[in-house]
Amino acid sequence: MCGIVGYLGDRNVYEVLINGLKRLEYRGYDSAGLALVAPGGEIKIYKSKGKVSNLEAYCSGKDLTSRVGIAHTRWATHGEPSDCNAHPHYSEDGNLALVHNGTIENYQLLKEALQQHGCKFHTETDTEVLVQLVEHIRVTNNCTTLEALQAALKQVIGAFAVAVVEKNNPDMVLAARRSSPLVIGIGDGEYFLGSDGTPFVEYTSKVVYVKDDEIAVMERNKPLKLVNLDNVEKKIDVKKLQLSIAQLEKGGYPHFMLKEIFEQPITMRDCIRGRVVEGGSRVILNGVMDNKDKFLNCNRIIIVACGTSWHAALLGKQLIQDMCRIPVEVEYASEFRYSHPVITDRDVVIAVSQSGETADTLAAIQIARSKGAFVYGVSNVVGASIPRETDSGTYIHVGPEIGVASTKAFTGQVLVFTMIALSVAQYKGTLTTEQVKAVGEYLMRIPQLVKETLKLNDKIRNLSLIYTYARNFLYLGRGYSYPVALEGALKLKEISYIHAEGYPAAEMKHGPIALIDSEMPTVIVAPKDHLYEKIVSNVQQVKSRGGSIIAIVTKGDTTIRELADHVLEVPSVPECLTPLITSIPLQLLSYYIAINKGKDVDMPRNLAKSVTVE
Ligand code: GLU
Repeated sequence: MCGIVGYLGDRNVYEVLINGLKRLEYRGYDSAGLALVAPGGEIKIYKSKGKVSNLEAYCSGKDLTSRVGIAHTRWATHGEPSDCNAHPHYSEDGNLALVHNGTIENYQLLKEALQQHGCKFHTETDTEVLVQLVEHIRVTNNCTTLEALQAALKQVIGAFAVAVVEKNNPDMVLAARRSSPLVIGIGDGEYFLGSDGTPFVEYTSKVVYVKDDEIAVMERNKPLKLVNLDNVEKKIDVKKLQLSIAQLEKGGYPHFMLKEIFEQPITMRDCIRGRVVEGGSRVILNGVMDNKDKFLNCNRIIIVACGTSWHAALLGKQLIQDMCRIPVEVEYASEFRYSHPVITDRDVVIAVSQSGETADTLAAIQIARSKGAFVYGVSNVVGASIPRETDSGTYIHVGPEIGVASTKAFTGQVLVFTMIALSVAQYKGTLTTEQVKAVGEYLMRIPQLVKETLKLNDKIRNLSLIYTYARNFLYLGRGYSYPVALEGALKLKEISYIHAEGYPAAEMKHGPIALIDSEMPTVIVAPKDHLYEKIVSNVQQVKSRGGSIIAIVTKGDTTIRELADHVLEVPSVPECLTPLITSIPLQLLSYYIAINKGKDVDMPRNLAKSVTVE
């Protein structure tokens, strides 16, 4: 959820840390802090509630001399966001400072035990318990901090990525993880660490992805060491960081979210490149091709996901069922993990997560694997936990998504599901080559058609002014447009804080229709598809109750134009591809409404990009 950064080397430590925090701020941003180890060993901690810019202002004019440091941007789970609860946290004697991403589930028990030994606590966080525990073990057993950390992590239940610095040993940083992400960057005589590679992308591309229950030992003038909790040395597998600085900048847009919306023609092309071939008549996904038999012989497919990825999963279900005639179930990963699910080795489980680090989805994967299911991952971040912990999978390849509200990752996920469905269908013979081609050809044109759709930008910006002060919104759609309606409503909620609900249009009459009046705008996703006539009557039902309607329709539509207050026309595509087009105007609508309301669209309140806590 949060971001951690660390540095040991000869650069200006403070600058490396503060710039790294800014890059990671999208992950969590209710407070930030850093610990600097001065050459003599003294550890200075600076922390501040709010954004990294507050911390920067707080640090200005202070003595920031140091050769080693760790830093943190927080998404509070235990204790309110405050200066005091912000990380890093000290051990009582001031020997250690620690930053932590994740949650310590048994912190209360550990805290009580430590209190009995006279430990005093100064914050409400679970993290402080961990740093006190490590120091308590170190002092009572007269052992090294590494040994104490190993012993402490054996007692801890929960998820963590931690980094520790020590006064007695000022030329060392220790970093460990379980279920939360952690990457080490290896430079020339220097080490970096981060929740992902973004904080140090300009310094090194040599990275090591730390695995669960491994500790990275970084010491000045010594090679990197990786050990497990039993002090067994682990092999160091150096990988190349697949990220560039340009990908992390706004490129002239006022917000990452707008940049990412407008990037979609490119990201969609990147996503299908080399995968939809031969003029669209063949789809090659290596992950599917290498595991054909799993898909062809399975009893059913279960898709597990959260948030926006769950909406993409609902579309995945329709695509796979329609094209492959395989039964598909979609589950919230958070519910699935505790639902005592019935899974067999004849099931295929597809796990979807932009970051590849979503804690609930990772837990669902573990359950599925333990029951013998074949697990397939769909994620964006190369080298993240989900791609590493699944049997096979596909990257969406849309580049780093920084805006907290997902846009290009959603369309990337939908594209990947479309390609999974087409490739399984071609192996299974449920679609003929001509039928694959009919969709594949359009798939290749989608980036261009999205570019055309983005020309609605100005119209939507003007339209947004009318609806900025609406207090509620209803989003309706049917068939392939129903998950699009859900996603449109979620986008609006996330960044403008307006209450919005997505509904299958026909369900409206079973309840939500009671809400409709002149104050309740309804967004109807109604492209020309086999349910078009049905949705026209839903439009009429809203209209006759005085509701105001914004409709997303196919170019040339005249029927809904007469009924709706505003229409946004999008290019015509085969029904199964409509979500890739109709979701675009909804992204823009939520963006502009949030902007009109003066909201911080890239960092909406209470949210975080990568949900690495339960
Ligand atoms: N559980 C810790 C806290 O509430 C860390 C949260 C985070 O990952 O930012 O301080």
